[in-house]
Amino acid sequence: MSRPPDAGAPSTPHGDGGTGGLDILEHAADAFVALDGAWRLTYVNPVAATLAGRPRGELLGHPLWERFPALAGGEAERALRRAAREGVVVELHHPLAEGGAPMELRAFPTPDGLAVYARDVGAERRAEAAVRESEARFRALADTAPVMIWLSDPQNLGTYFNRPWLQFTGRTLEEELGTGWTRALHPDDLPRAVEHCSAAFEARREFRMEFRMRRADGAYRWVLDHGIPRYDDAGAFLGYVGSCIDITDLRAASDALREREERYRLVMRATRDVVWDWDLATNRVRWNEAIEEVMGHAPADVEPTARWWYGHIHPDDRDRVVLGIHEAIRLRAAQWSAEYRFLRAGGEWAHVLDRGYLLRGDDGRPVRMIGAMQDVTGRKRAEAARESERERLRRVLAQLPAAVAVYEGPELVVVAASDAYHRFVGGRDLLGRPFRDALPELAAQGFDRLLEDVYRSGRPHVGTGVDAAWDDDGDGAAEPHVIDFVYQPLVGADGAVYGVVAHVTDVTARHRAERELAEARAEAEARAAEGADLARRLAEQAMVLRAQVEESRSLAAELRTANEGLVAASRSADASRRRIELLAEASSRLASSLDFRETVRTVAQLAVPALADWCFVETQDDTGAIRLLAAGHADPAKVEWAFEVMRRYPIDPDAPYGTANVLRTGEPEVVFEIPDGLLDAAARDEEHRAIYRAVAFRSHISVPLTVAGRTFGVLSLVYGDESGRRYTADDLPLARELAHRAAVAIENARLYGEALAANRAKAGFLATMSHELRTPLNAVTGYADLLLLGIPEPIPERARAQVERILLAARHLLSIIEEILAYSRLEAGRETIELEAVDLAALAGEVGAIIEPLAAVKGLAVHLPERVEPATVVTDPRKLRQILVNLLGNAVKFTAAGSVSFGVEGVDGAVLLHVRDTGIGIEPAHREVIFEPFRQVDDASTRVAGGTGLGLSVSRSLARLLGGDVTVESVPGEGSTFTVRLPRA
Ligand code: ADP
Repeated sequence: MSRPPDAGAPSTPHGDGGTGGLDILEHAADAFVALDGAWRLTYVNPVAATLAGRPRGELLGHPLWERFPALAGGEAERALRRAAREGVVVELHHPLAEGGAPMELRAFPTPDGLAVYARDVGAERRAEAAVRESEARFRALADTAPVMIWLSDPQNLGTYFNRPWLQFTGRTLEEELGTGWTRALHPDDLPRAVEHCSAAFEARREFRMEFRMRRADGAYRWVLDHGIPRYDDAGAFLGYVGSCIDITDLRAASDALREREERYRLVMRATRDVVWDWDLATNRVRWNEAIEEVMGHAPADVEPTARWWYGHIHPDDRDRVVLGIHEAIRLRAAQWSAEYRFLRAGGEWAHVLDRGYLLRGDDGRPVRMIGAMQDVTGRKRAEAARESERERLRRVLAQLPAAVAVYEGPELVVVAASDAYHRFVGGRDLLGRPFRDALPELAAQGFDRLLEDVYRSGRPHVGTGVDAAWDDDGDGAAEPHVIDFVYQPLVGADGAVYGVVAHVTDVTARHRAERELAEARAEAEARAAEGADLARRLAEQAMVLRAQVEESRSLAAELRTANEGLVAASRSADASRRRIELLAEASSRLASSLDFRETVRTVAQLAVPALADWCFVETQDDTGAIRLLAAGHADPAKVEWAFEVMRRYPIDPDAPYGTANVLRTGEPEVVFEIPDGLLDAAARDEEHRAIYRAVAFRSHISVPLTVAGRTFGVLSLVYGDESGRRYTADDLPLARELAHRAAVAIENARLYGEALAANRAKAGFLATMSHELRTPLNAVTGYADLLLLGIPEPIPERARAQVERILLAARHLLSIIEEILAYSRLEAGRETIELEAVDLAALAGEVGAIIEPLAAVKGLAVHLPERVEPATVVTDPRKLRQILVNLLGNAVKFTAAGSVSFGVEGVDGAVLLHVRDTGIGIEPAHREVIFEPFRQVDDASTRVAGGTGLGLSVSRSLARLLGGDVTVESVPGEGSTFTVRLPRA
């Protein structure tokens, strides 16, 4: 290790001694620091810097307490300050660095301030433990030892003094025991010695002190007393073991040299190095006490010659070393150094690092060489062990799939790295290079500080998921990575940290995956939250929906009920409609004919198949027999067959059920389900029974046909096997309604038939009568005409007026008879038509000729058309003339004043002939009645006017016979207009 540049001119305790002392310190195995009066660090050797965990640049100039905080406060600080204050050497056990093992600290004043030396005493403690193994063995050894040895008990009373001691003082063991030994001390030194010893004892501290002790010959000799606390295996304090060596000769060395060497002495004392002083002129070599402490050679055994030294060098190393040092002297090199093996007193070889410095006389010739032999056996061994460990490590590492690197020393030099680690960093060359140089980009990211922390503190560092960027492919650019790593301190056999092993795992991919996973998870969680939200909303909606469904359900139930109601209603409406339709059809069909048979047949057919498979209409005649009037069935053959059956098996009028029962009671009979065997029982014979079985009547309703409280028949509706249907109570009203209509229609038809017969009888009577009347009446008019003609002779003028009245009355009567005859002919359907083209203009002239004489009588004006359009009509001219004569006669008859007019009009293929008057008019109520035969408006005017009441009836019948009609419009009191409408062709 080179001398740090910033330690250039430290105020050290070896200023004028050249650089020798400093270099010794630089290479010392123990820590050493120098302080100025203000407790600032003026020098720090590498070991101390390592313990402080900082480069020297960061230590120098800074206060001790700040850079070695373990020393600040408490016992250590007190002791150091006392050393400075009182100018004494102070020793104590205390760690130098925080968390470190206790070290043996020695502070001694210097002209500039204070120097502190610290060394690990672990090894010594182990040695002591070994020593304590056997007291007896120890004593045996101690007595043969070349030094004075003493033991004390836990009360600090002397318990043993070895033979050399007793020989030195010339006293007995008994005299020395307890505190007896202090009597040999120089009175001037006694208080200090006792105090020092007691203080060390109190602290259980190892101590060294110098004092004068009286020898057996009475002379006071300077001795160096070295006491070490003793413990048994259980760790119990046993007292002290101490050694005393006579240092009078050393102290008696020349004052000048002593003066000059004082500081070296301090250094020598401060270090554990074996320091030698070789006088080149005399070839004498002097050794400091460490030759015994370190190498075990008692001063008595050490020959003060170069030869003795050479003789203790390992034969394999000797020539090299001896030649080397002589060469250095010959060349007057300022410095010489060599590593070699040196024989210990115990016969073992110690590895030493020996360095010498040439001192020259005034003439510049080398006069002395001063050197320090450092026992590096432990270090060598450790290094060898470390090297083999490294080698093993390298071998292991090379094969390790993991990225592992080993750094050593405060500079964290890469001493081993696995192949994986090399690949990790782009295959760059790492070995032998400090971390900072090998991996600068990582150092720039603070990983160097982490490593240094681990190296300094001895505590491992674990990093997980740490971002780090480095050049992993040698392209000069740093690529980002994520790593897990462990920095594990490497602790040597001596308990000190000597390196750090780094184990790095690239988890970039895993991290990326984890990050993606985390993102995915976060997203999933977000989705889940969203989902939960959605679910919540869905749940809400579901609730709303459920409520709606409930509502809908109740609505549906309501609707269903309503619908059922509707269905029922519609069914009943349907039924009603069907009923109404059926009844409407029944009404229209029943009204369509007044023929009784036709009507009854219609009734029987109406109910089939809507209301029955079979329908029977039966009635009771005057003899009490029950007759089938009509039967209805889908098959007309079956209807015929039913009549046949009824003829062969007429219904018993006294039967307690069925038609006979209904006729008798006037109450309906309903059998929803005809019991099996009932008809069998009712059957007259086997054939009848077979018939009943064939028709298979299953259900029936029999309702009376009643008009004005008189039951004249029965309507029976029957379901058989044809439809498989059955009657219910619901069917009864319809059956009754149908029966009612049928009854009315049948009764009407019956009455109409009767009326028709009566009318026919009347018409026949009238025709006969009129015919019979007309013959004598024609004789009356004929003879009256002859009388007026003076045949057989002229009649007197007085008689003539009377004959004219007879003729007039007779003619009137004849017209009435003609009218009745016409009516009779029409009623009997005997009227025939003879069509021809009629000139309407000529007709108008004829009308005028008929009407004018009558109008003149009453002083009425007559208006006839000036132009007649259309000119002709194809019709029966005689019948048309008869119609017009009737209408014109009525017009004159019912008009007291004003006029009678006649008009012709052509409309849509028809000819309209109008007869208008300004007469009494006709009340609306009478406007249809007047067209019925024998009907007259019953008022005074009619009675005055007279008439048969057949005119309008005959006129309309004739017009209808011609394909036309006669209609009337009238305003009572103002007049009437009768219109004859005839088809033009
Ligand atoms: P009648 O022989 O009684 O005239 P009609 O059938 O010709 O019989 O007439 C029936 C009844 O119609 C008359 O009795 C009369 O009351 C009424 N009538 C007919 N024509 C007219 C009319 N032009 N003005 C008023 N009433 C009339």
